[in-house]
Amino acid sequence: MLKLVTANQSSYSRTPLQPRRVHTITDRFAKLIVRLLCDYIQRFLHRTIDDIDLIVLTHFHADHSSAVDKLRRLCHAPVAASAINRQLVTEEKILPKFGHFAGQVLSGVLGHHDLLLPASVQQIKLVDIWLNDVEGLPGHLDWRIIASVGHASESLCVYHPFSEELLCGDTLVALEGGSLLWRGGADRHQREEILHILRSLSIRYLYPGHGRPVLSLQPLSKVEFEW
Ligand SMILES: [Zn+2]
Repeated sequence: MLKLVTANQSSYSRTPLQPRRVHTITDRFAKLIVRLLCDYIQRFLHRTIDDIDLIVLTHFHADHSSAVDKLRRLCHAPVAASAINRQLVTEEKILPKFGHFAGQVLSGVLGHHDLLLPASVQQIKLVDIWLNDVEGLPGHLDWRIIASVGHASESLCVYHPFSEELLCGDTLVALEGGSLLWRGGADRHQREEILHILRSLSIRYLYPGHGRPVLSLQPLSKVEFEW
């Protein structure tokens, strides 16, 4: 996820006469997407890459973070991610080496949400700002962080109560037809807890890490489960 503001407009506000000033564009920073993102910002938004003022990682899986260093070099914006990463690295809680995909699946199936994938350790070195549950994003305090441990130990969602937008990373992904699939891990208790929190929010716009955005009054009323 990425935040863009103009130099003297650091806070978000929206009235019928005011165009939206903060754009949240993607939460996936793989190589091709970073290229498309730069094109989109320049050609469609008519902004410069330097207008990006914050890069937020919803988690460290490669499809969301593999080119974040490239983006950071281009825009010089800080990278922010869940503070749980810092804790896990300090405590050396790292999964033994599997292939990246196998590691992702194992961490989900076996419930090792207190362990980091070895590949994530490299990505962690790119993080400038650590984010804690419930706090606001630095410079965008009206965007709230919701820790959603499950898909990865460091998974987080970001919620904006005034515009009723939720960016949920891979905690939920959209399927064909607009229904949502829970990908937040197999721990039933944890799942109920996170879903309870998310369902208590007023959400009209839900942006999953994969699939189309869901525009609905109660997007979380019907959720399918992976296992
Ligand atoms: Zn993903």
